[in-house]
Amino acid sequence: MVRKAKETDDVVTFVVKRIDDRLVKTSLPGQYVTVRMRMPDGKLQPRQYSLTRADDGEHRQFSVKRVRDEGAGPDGEMSTLLHDSVKVGDTLTLSLPYGDVVLDDAGRPVVFASAGIGIAPMAGMLSHLVAAESGLPVTLLHADVDDASFPLRRQVVGDILALRNARMYLWFEQGAQSHEPVDGVFHGLMDPTAVDLPEDALYYLCGPLPFMQAVRSGLVDRGVAPRDIQYEVFGPDLWQADLD
Ligand SMILES: Cc1cc2nc3c(=O)[nH]c(=O)nc-3n(C[C@H](O)[C@H](O)[C@H](O)COP(=O)(O)OP(=O)(O)OC[C@H]3O[C@@H](n4cnc5c(N)ncnc54)[C@H](O)[C@@H]3O)c2cc1C
Repeated sequence: MVRKAKETDDVVTFVVKRIDDRLVKTSLPGQYVTVRMRMPDGKLQPRQYSLTRADDGEHRQFSVKRVRDEGAGPDGEMSTLLHDSVKVGDTLTLSLPYGDVVLDDAGRPVVFASAGIGIAPMAGMLSHLVAAESGLPVTLLHADVDDASFPLRRQVVGDILALRNARMYLWFEQGAQSHEPVDGVFHGLMDPTAVDLPEDALYYLCGPLPFMQAVRSGLVDRGVAPRDIQYEVFGPDLWQADLD
């Protein structure tokens, strides 16, 4: 691992550089890797983390939210280890990139809707669009507590500004102000009907399950075809059934 940077109080970004010379599969925009680590009890455990930057063939970047004990269970095992114990210079074991929720290159406008660490796959897809110098109409809708809690904020805002045809709207639980040059900031929960969205867009959602359920039904009520809405679930696959 070559870089560890604090994004917010709860989120740290890791950049790893490969040290083997095996054939590397380039990641598709939106894919994730599995990180495998030995836990304090000696067991090897896997966890998935979305890639938050386009590949350069050598480095991979991902961001980890610390999962805290909120009365219902213990602190998250791997996120705590990654936050507290893993240091620059340590070796991490990563899988090849995989995952089916990848950016469609059909040329249709794209709308990303994320909350909290759900920005991670969106950051990866945006980074790929910038690398491809894409002129696609892109709209990013993001919900968070406030500016300071918005992970990968600088990277994402920089990428939105670098794209020729991109807009960005924020929803904050606290206040309705951002230091970033965005197209709109609203107070409260995300309401996609508050902004103009392109016709015939493809939608990508990532965030807590109630967030994705609310945004998805708002979009479907507005006439968006369910087949045009994809979502990444940061948990067991069976959660996906709850969205339908
Ligand atoms: C496709 C995909 C992409 C993902 N991308 C990202 C990403 O980019 N960034 C990111 O931060 N995360 C991402 N995740 C989530 C990530 O993989 C981990 O699930 C997350 O980091 C938590 O892992 P952990 O080991 O810290 O928590 P765990 O130890 O797995 O704990 C998870 C939860 O279970 C509770 N729990 C554990 N044991 C018990 C018990 N005995 N009794 C009651 N409750 C218990 C814990 O309190 C905690 O709330 C992604 C997941 C998927 C599936």
